[in-house]
Amino acid sequence: MSVECPCGCGRTIKRVWHRTAEHAVYLASLSQVADHLAKIYSAYDQAAAIHMEQFARKGLGYSHSMLNSAHEVPHTFGFPPTKEVDEWRVAALKLLHVAKHADPKWFSQWPDLVRMPPT
Ligand SMILES: [Zn+2]
Repeated sequence: MSVECPCGCGRTIKRVWHRTAEHAVYLASLSQVADHLAKIYSAYDQAAAIHMEQFARKGLGYSHSMLNSAHEVPHTFGFPPTKEVDEWRVAALKLLHVAKHADPKWFSQWPDLVRMPPT
């Protein structure tokens, strides 16, 4: 069974990978929030900006690894450890609140999260 990949690449992926791809899209959208906060912080706090940028990049890295798996593209880094990804996601979710207050206009235009169905 094949389904359309939720990342927007237009590929057809195996159904077993659909959830992984969805999770990857979710992580990528969360990393956009961190990325935007990094831009805001860079105006007045370089250290915080760099920290936030690294955090965003980490999440995007997880997302890419997971999408590569879903796309069945051979890649170097392998599948990220679930515990690490979970910790990142929990930390990233806390940033939603921060971003909403730091830049309400941007936040209101931020594309809706692709919600993970509850496990
Ligand atoms: Zn895709």
